[in-house]
This record gives sequence, structure tokens and C-alpha cells, in this order.
Amino acid sequence: NPELSEEFATLMGWVDKIRRLKVRCNADTPQDAKAAREFGAEGIGLCRTEHMFFQDDRIFDIRAMIIATSEEDRRRSMDKLLPLQRADFEALFETMAGLPVTIRLLDPPLHEFLPNNRHDIAAMAHALKIDEDSLTSRIHAMHEFNPMLGHRGCRLAISKPEVVEMQARAIFEAAVSAGEKTGAPVQPEIMVPLVSIREELEFVKARIDSTAKAVMKEMGHEIDYRVGTMIELPRAALQARKIAESAEFFSFGTNDLTQTTYGISRDDAARFIADYIKAGVLEQDPFISIDIEGVGELIEIASERGRFARPDITLGICGEHGGDPVSIEFCERVGLDYVSCSPYRVPIARLSAAQATLRRHQRI
Ligand code: PEP
Ligand code: MG
Repeated sequence: NPELSEEFATLMGWVDKIRRLKVRCNADTPQDAKAAREFGAEGIGLCRTEHMFFQDDRIFDIRAMIIATSEEDRRRSMDKLLPLQRADFEALFETMAGLPVTIRLLDPPLHEFLPNNRHDIAAMAHALKIDEDSLTSRIHAMHEFNPMLGHRGCRLAISKPEVVEMQARAIFEAAVSAGEKTGAPVQPEIMVPLVSIREELEFVKARIDSTAKAVMKEMGHEIDYRVGTMIELPRAALQARKIAESAEFFSFGTNDLTQTTYGISRDDAARFIADYIKAGVLEQDPFISIDIEGVGELIEIASERGRFARPDITLGICGEHGGDPVSIEFCERVGLDYVSCSPYRVPIARLSAAQATLRRHQRI
């Protein structure tokens, strides 16, 4: 309805003049990024790269990398994935030309990437020329009882730094070529997941920095990039002062932060949270709206400590709460720089951000 879309455009014009918070999107395909841009997203706040590996031409190599026992084998798999990842990132940079793009390094719960049926295991054993029984026992040995609290995020990066080097190289090479193609220089932002102490971030950042140096030398091109981290574990929030010494930005991963603060599995919470609300034990679902006295307090602590160490640190949120009006009001109050949410929540987030700014003014 053109009349409605004109009224919508007028409303959003007012909204954008008022709001202080920037609104980015969570997107890992050019289609989602394009839709979000049309909805007014001002960048990508979270590209979940693990989503990029499920296609038929990729899943084999990422699995092979995870189960490989030698660095040489891991590198071989990564070499095959490099051109595919470069094309993924180039497309995102082109779609978001002129806007910031935050790419998160691989963060899969491991079981999602392990072959889990006899057919896949047999095919993999055949392709890797290894005995099916020894492959099966290798996979069993990697079984985790609680994958969400297991070998994922920066933990995987520390065990298998070849993944970091491949992804960083793909990002930097893509940034150079997308910049040349669009004429808009790309400043990639690389985000490290599941960090809880500074040393984890420093280990991964050292690999990113050395890859940047190598790519710049090879391509004869300066690359302006930023490295930051998710804050999604209580310990990371408490350690924010030290972590900020190595991070140019923080992005609050409130899905995991809620899970780990409450000790409630994010995948199982729906089974009983409604009962809690019905019984009056909880007022709201903490996985939907930020719990101000729990997760919210950790966000406040981390923001304060992060700014203390690095006054110009960029602070954002990329958990599901980034598209929730109640949480957005909290983000405004704490003074975050941006919220990031799924493409279709971008207009609501823009509107909520403006309402939050107005309420703050009213309070003052
Ligand atoms: C989060 O934990 O809030 C987050 C954004 O990361 P993911 O949902 O991918 O774990
Ligand atoms: Mg997370």
C-alpha cells in the first residue's frame, strides 16, 4: 500500500531524527543483509559464520578439519574453504558498502558439525582414506555431554588456530576486493566469541593480527580493521577492564549471557519459563527481555569497566534482546552505542530506540 509506505517513511524519518542508538542487523547472507538495509539497518552487528558451513560443498571440509589430528590435515581443509569464505564476505561487504560489518569467528556447538549417522561416517572414512571403525571411535571421543558449555567459540579457535587464520584471511582479502569494487573502503570488524578471560582474546587476536600483516604485504594494501569480543559469559563481564585492553568493541551476547547467568539452558527454557510466569515466580521471560537485576547488572558492570580501560570502546548488543523494546530502553539507559537484531525487527528497533531516547529526556 503506497499510502501506508509513505506514512511509514514519514514516521521512520521522525524516529531517526530522535534516536541516539544505532540499529544494526544480525545477518549472514547477502539476502538478509539487503532486506535489513532496506529496513534501515546501519550495518551488520553479527554475522554468525557457522551458518555458512552447512551447504553440501562445505560441510565435508569443516567436518574434516574438526576431526583431523594433524595441523597439516586441518590446513588442507581450510585451504579448500578459503575461496568460499572469501566470496561469502565479499558479498556481505558489497551489500553493506559504506556501513560497518562485524564478522564473528566460527562458534558452533561441536555436535552440529560432527557426522552423526552411519552413511556420513562411511562416506567420510572413504574420502579421508581411513578405517571406518577408527573414524567412529575418533568421533565418539569428541562427544560432549553439554556442547553449549563445551568446545566452542574461542575454545575451538585456541585448539585449531588454522580456522582463525583462514577466516581472517578470507575477511581481509574480501575487504580489499569489495573496497576496490564499490569504491567505499571496508573496515572489517572481527569478533571473537565466548571469551571469558583476556588471554583467550589475546591468543586469537595475535593470529588475526599476523594474518592481517601477511595479507597487507601480499596485496600491497593497507587494511583498517578492528578486533573485538562478545561479552556473553559472566566472567567476561567481570573481567571487562582487562579484556577491553585488547578489544576495540564489546558486543553483548545476551542469549548466552542469560543462559549462563541463570544456569538455564537456552534451548530448554521454554519448557518451564511459562510456568514460572504463571506462578508469579518470574515477571517476564529473561530470554526475551533483559533481566535488569541479573544480566542487566552484568552489562552495566562490563560497560563501566570496559570504558574505564578504553574510553572510546564501542558497545553493542547482538543477542535476541537487541530487537526487544523493553531491552532497547535498557540499552539506551546504559549508553550502549548500538543494538543489533534480525532484519525484520529493525524497524521496531528503530522506533523503540527513539521512544527510549524520548523517555530518557523526559526523566532528565
Ligand atoms: C548470544 O549468545 O547472544 C549470541 C548473539 O550468540 P549466539 O546466539 O550465536 O550464541
Ligand atoms: Mg552466543
